[in-house]
Amino acid sequence: MTNTSAPTTSTIEHWISGARVPGSSGRTAPVHDPATGQVTSHVALASAAEVDAAVKTAVAAAEEWRSASLSRRAAVLFSFRELLHARTGELAAIITSEHGKVLADAAGEIARGLENVEFATGVPQLLKGGFSEQASAGVDVYSLRQPLGVVAGITPFNFPAMVPLWMCANAIACGNAFVLKPSEKDPSASLFIAELWKEAGLPDGVFTVIHGDKEAVDALLDHEDVAAISFVGSTPIAKYIYERGTANGKRVQALGGAKNHALVLPDADLDLAADAIVSAAYGAAGERCMALSVAVAVGEVADGLVSAIRDRLPSLTVGAGSEPGTDMGPLITREHRDRVAGYIGAGADAGAKVVVDGREQDVPQDGFFLGMTLLDEVTPEMTVYTDEIFGPVLSVVRVSTFDEGLALINSNQYANGTAIFTRDGGAARKFKNEVEVGMVGINVPIPVPVAYYSFGGWKDSLFGDTHMYGPEGINFYTRGKVVTERWPDPATSTVDLGFPRTR
Ligand code: NAD
Repeated sequence: MTNTSAPTTSTIEHWISGARVPGSSGRTAPVHDPATGQVTSHVALASAAEVDAAVKTAVAAAEEWRSASLSRRAAVLFSFRELLHARTGELAAIITSEHGKVLADAAGEIARGLENVEFATGVPQLLKGGFSEQASAGVDVYSLRQPLGVVAGITPFNFPAMVPLWMCANAIACGNAFVLKPSEKDPSASLFIAELWKEAGLPDGVFTVIHGDKEAVDALLDHEDVAAISFVGSTPIAKYIYERGTANGKRVQALGGAKNHALVLPDADLDLAADAIVSAAYGAAGERCMALSVAVAVGEVADGLVSAIRDRLPSLTVGAGSEPGTDMGPLITREHRDRVAGYIGAGADAGAKVVVDGREQDVPQDGFFLGMTLLDEVTPEMTVYTDEIFGPVLSVVRVSTFDEGLALINSNQYANGTAIFTRDGGAARKFKNEVEVGMVGINVPIPVPVAYYSFGGWKDSLFGDTHMYGPEGINFYTRGKVVTERWPDPATSTVDLGFPRTR
């Protein structure tokens, strides 16, 4: 691998013009290993002036890159795909060291990110336009899709590799320069990805990493040379990004938070449903935007479902994500762990039945660990139901009928993902048709679309109208142009063309 420049300090630097660049703002933030609670490094936090300088290099790179042939772009993407695949283990270890998720999960997010790179290798096909010969007499009409220039991605802590890959693979394939502002909580994966892009042959400046917090984000939102913003994170920030970005005339897709429900019907395969719900509720310590956080149990299935979930929890091991045999790692920060633990008490105080209490489990004392919690008899006005907890807390809401469960899901402000567990095709069909949620699973707990579809929720889970990656990602990162063309009939030309002027 190209060793462009080794880090000069334990401060995590920016990546500008194909090299690590130290921050100059004088501001940094600590980065922790959530499994030990120790500060392992600091990350530079860019000032508006540093963002401006980084965007300027991206502008120059974008002007060149838009002219790169489709076959050259595809070749770079193929090389990048190979490198990412070959070095998955190293990147997974980096993710686990700063995020805390288990290594298999970290490798899993890279695999899902890789799908997006594979999709983008098809850019020669994806950018094909339409052509209508003889739309009018002697007139042809055809369409083009052209890059926007410099586009930015602002990403959350919970998928430090996958979410940037959702964005940058398509953005770069379409001929744009991409500026990434990763989460300051786990920033190192972005630099590893930057080095792989360089090694794959991507020209310097086409992929930039600028670390930072609100100051850097605002500088991107206000920068006149940033044409589009892709954001993934919590709902209040998504709304803010959308409003400020669009007020500045940018294209914005801003994906927000979630409260994903599973509707379990009385005829469901209980083992399948319980296995699926346990892995979707507690995997990655519940810090997934597609995690299931509410199981809606219809009628007589409730008691059996609660028992089946409860019985599965003791066999799951909580520990450092780097330890073999660990099923669930720590949460991202101490504050977040404490906030999640606070919801368990709030749920109990509000009348929920604490079937399994994560605060009482035997978990490592160092680090930001919390055990798995199962709450039963949760009702819609409780904060454990209304709020996105983003931790290993599963609430069971009991309803009497399918319609009651569907109405509950449809009345929620969030609408990212949902799932139904049933053996009844008619019920499943009615559910997928009537549920007001962007991504739907039928006996599938985490229905993240494959890369050739697009990812996005409805309502407060998405601000903007374009979903992320897949065909909608290609549209987001390009502008359409339609050419209407008429050429004089050669027969009417008075110039000697060197061939007979007849048809
Ligand atoms: P977050 O909203 O706190 O941060 C996301 C990004 O915004 C980070 O890069 C952060 O630096 C930046 N940011 C934070 N506060 C800001 C502010 N005041 N002004 C400007 N920028 C700011 O989210 P997070 O805690 O990193 O991630 C977890 C959240 O992301 C959860 O709500 C989760 O549901 C959501 N998420 C959603 C999806 C989805 O596809 N819908 C996917 C992953 C995560």
